[in-house]
Amino acid sequence: MGEPADTLAARWAAVRQRVDEACRAAGRDPAGVDVLPVSKTFGPEVVREAAALGLTRFGENRVQELREKAAALADLKLEWVLIGHLQTNKARDVARLASEVQSLDRLELAEALHRRLEAEGRTLDVLVQVKTSPEESKQGLPPDELPAFLDRLRDHPMLRVRGLMTMAVQSDDAEAVRACFRGLRELRDAAVGRGHELPRLSMGMSGDFPLAIAEGATEVRIGTAIFGRR
Ligand SMILES: *Cc1c(COP(=O)(O)O)cnc(C)c1O
Repeated sequence: MGEPADTLAARWAAVRQRVDEACRAAGRDPAGVDVLPVSKTFGPEVVREAAALGLTRFGENRVQELREKAAALADLKLEWVLIGHLQTNKARDVARLASEVQSLDRLELAEALHRRLEAEGRTLDVLVQVKTSPEESKQGLPPDELPAFLDRLRDHPMLRVRGLMTMAVQSDDAEAVRACFRGLRELRDAAVGRGHELPRLSMGMSGDFPLAIAEGATEVRIGTAIFGRR
């Protein structure tokens, strides 16, 4: 037996298997962890190939790119998940095209999305992105602002708040990475204790997802390990 073929199908199967193994290692049920394939920078033809494997949800970090792919693949029933920084002036496209936003990080954006959703007559699932890493480059709401932010979101009923999202510090120190994931889980647990319903924790990427699963991720966002290098 040689190496498995380096195809999208083989990479996808390998990722799902590694996620299942990480679940078992953490004593968790693999059914409790979803994989969000992150298709950013890959063209519509690659997403079409992934859709043929049965994948239906895709993560994108730029609205312009999401819009182009949604248009090119309008014949397929796909769900587009925005995971990147969102400018307020793009709220209209997102309110029309995205099934979910995982990068909600400020009240001004919540208000813009809410207005546009009211105009569209639809609700949107959102995760609040929290900054758990000290890196300047990382986006997200400062952790100490989360309680008040979640309370304010209650005035925005078109936004269905489903949980929290984070990106860990980029580091070879597994304990530092893990501390970011643990911090998000603890913030979630504290918010649940104050009466918020936050079943989802989106955390972990190609390079660090086993640590995120060990700390309670319900969803890992995987680009490189499925689609290849960008
Ligand atoms: C690109 C990206 C990912 C996927 O990263 P990989 O390392 O390629 O798996 C996950 N989350 C966010 C927010 C991203 O921008």
